[in-house]
Amino acid sequence: MLETTIDIKPSPSELRGFDILHHPRMNKSTAFTAAERDALGLVGLLPEGIESEETQIQRIMQQLGHKTIDLDKYIYLSALQDNDETLYYKVLMSDPALFMPLVYTPTVGEACQKFGHILRRPKGLYLSIARRGQIEEILRNWPEQDVRFIVVTDGERILGLGDLGVNGMGIPIGKLALYTACAGVPPQFTLPITLDVGTNNETLLTDPLYLGLRQPRVRGDEYDAFIEEFVMAVQEVFPKCCIQFEDFANFHAVPILEHYRDRVCCFNDDIQGTAAVAVAGILAGLRLTGGKMSDQTFLFFGAGSAGTGIAELLSQVMIQEGLSAEQARARCWLFNRKGLLQSSRTDLADFQQPFAHPHAPIDDFVAAIADLKPTAIIGVSTVAKAFNQAVIEAMTRINPWPIIFPYSNPTSHSECTAQEAYKWSGGRAVFASGSPFAPVKYGNQTFVPGQGNNVYIFPAMGMAIYATQAKRVTDEMFITAAKAVAEQVTQSDLDVGLIYPPQSEILKTSLHVAQKVAENIFDSNLAGVTKPTDLRTFIESQVYKPEYKSLV
Ligand code: NAD
Repeated sequence: MLETTIDIKPSPSELRGFDILHHPRMNKSTAFTAAERDALGLVGLLPEGIESEETQIQRIMQQLGHKTIDLDKYIYLSALQDNDETLYYKVLMSDPALFMPLVYTPTVGEACQKFGHILRRPKGLYLSIARRGQIEEILRNWPEQDVRFIVVTDGERILGLGDLGVNGMGIPIGKLALYTACAGVPPQFTLPITLDVGTNNETLLTDPLYLGLRQPRVRGDEYDAFIEEFVMAVQEVFPKCCIQFEDFANFHAVPILEHYRDRVCCFNDDIQGTAAVAVAGILAGLRLTGGKMSDQTFLFFGAGSAGTGIAELLSQVMIQEGLSAEQARARCWLFNRKGLLQSSRTDLADFQQPFAHPHAPIDDFVAAIADLKPTAIIGVSTVAKAFNQAVIEAMTRINPWPIIFPYSNPTSHSECTAQEAYKWSGGRAVFASGSPFAPVKYGNQTFVPGQGNNVYIFPAMGMAIYATQAKRVTDEMFITAAKAVAEQVTQSDLDVGLIYPPQSEILKTSLHVAQKVAENIFDSNLAGVTKPTDLRTFIESQVYKPEYKSLV
């Protein structure tokens, strides 16, 4: 007997009437033309008034303006995404600097904490460990057949907020919205996924509105086998897909990346994206402080996946400048709960070992600064206020222009505020933070604090990978991205202390970065398509435009 495959998913172009209005990618809401209303059975389902997109946006801005709480704005925008995807992206892309903090950090942190309470309509895919053996089948439930980008979390280390179980789904959803809004990756190719392996968060386990498995997290071989099943199922169902691992606990994030980075197209934004954005900030910061990367000494407060990832990529840049791997890593020192990482410590994980150099134990961060004389301190600890007055003053005593990067998110976990860094350094800090801070007036100067937001890196990386159908993601691609971000910081940005390009121009910035990364992908023979003659035009031709398509 001949086997036939019957595709039972209706194609969006076959939809009519009510179903179109409830298909977020097809819906134009009040902007359907008279001809479309007649042809698609929409007459009467909409009021007679036919609106332009501009009028629709005006209404949205007015409704948003009535909301005073950011979480309410998040909920409103999320509902808009469910209702009319084109309009959602049109709104986001009209002012990315305004909307990014609402659809992603910092607001998404609170949204995740309250996810089960604010849920309207589920988005994305939930893959539960209770469904082992069925993951490939579940992936096929997704309505799109050509997925190119998955952001996946297991919810164990959401931002700096810890284990939020399936509430972590807010992160893949928000992050993928930025792939589209900030670099033009078409949304139909993206898929948010949460792996539900339980949660150890007691508050969630006893919350009647919690939506995930009510069991402790599965660990060990069973967990590893589940990850393997997931990664292999993606290769099978979506063979052109890149997997971005997000907000896994560091003891999973690092081994997962090591295990899969040479086998499939994947990366970990907490490790590699963070590293690249920090490298970009340091490279631009060096234009203010003077000196080369290989002249610097870095001291990290926090030695988890972000800290070790940044230290490794900084080392790679120093290696490109001519240092040996050993010399480069020797310029990166890390400090965690138990003090300075040094070679006599017996409690370190494998991924921390390269940065455990011979040194006497030090358990006081100010003492470590005085002793190691870092030119830059980078906070990736989730410990609010760890960069106190004594820390900033110690940095300012030994550096004319101390580089101070409190990178922990969300804002409430930042190691210091911009105000504190400028005040305690007498206006000399070269500052960037993980969460946004408003401009700071100090003396006669107004400083504009840069946000070392991974958004400068991952959407552009996504666009480059999508456009070139890259087969692997390498560290060299991230260094290329970092340099491409830093070179877009202008002298007038630097004049106000800003060491990242303005977020208001993120799409332009991202396309430049995507082009540079795509060049690197072609040069490394990692592309799945033939190199076009004009790479920039090629990339621009693939950028998603939030415009309604004619349906008749
Ligand atoms: P992680 O849990 O892997 O690492 C945290 C590290 O901080 C651990 O080494 C821990 O020992 C250390 N630490 C905790 N408390 C400490 C204390 N009291 N004293 C000294 N060290 C302490 O987390 P991660 O993935 O490395 O992320 C850390 C932070 O960086 C998070 O807040 C995250 O939001 C932030 N981050 C920011 C960006 C960005 O802004 N671009 C990107 C990624 C991560």
